[in-house]
Amino acid sequence: MSNIEQTLSIIKPDAVERNLQEEIKIEFKNNGFEIINEKKIHISKEEAEKFYKVHESKPFYNDLCQYLSSGPIIVMKLQKENAVLENRKLMGATNPQDASDGTLRKKYGISIDKNSVHGSDSVENAKVELDFFFKD
Ligand code: UDP
Ligand code: MG
Repeated sequence: MSNIEQTLSIIKPDAVERNLQEEIKIEFKNNGFEIINEKKIHISKEEAEKFYKVHESKPFYNDLCQYLSSGPIIVMKLQKENAVLENRKLMGATNPQDASDGTLRKKYGISIDKNSVHGSDSVENAKVELDFFFKD
């Protein structure tokens, strides 16, 4: 049975800064993702704090929010069969040092904080995160 899902992907400031967005978008397309919607934005620290609220209690929360709001990002609505899990697989482990060969974080990530891409981690969170950026 088919299970088409949508998920949120973000190309983070470190990748946009290195002008990798077109290359990363090609990776998504080559892996069967359809980019349904996308925009380049520069969010405030307050917006980043809302987006990452789930990590509020973590020691890295402040730096994370500072970082996500430090420069332009590309937010994308991706669609594919099992898109949420498929995107997590394509991204690889949170720490680029632990990410498998061929994954986006292995290829492009610099460090655990500058790991180039974000992806929703569940179908439920994907809905919330897509709503956050693409309320239409
Ligand atoms: N992060 C960090 N230090 C850590 C753990 C996470 O800077 O020790 C950052 C990292 O950029 C990660 C983001 O916080 O992408 C969100 O963390 P999460 O555990 O949700 O990882 P992800 O879902 O992005 O793989
Ligand atoms: Mg996460």
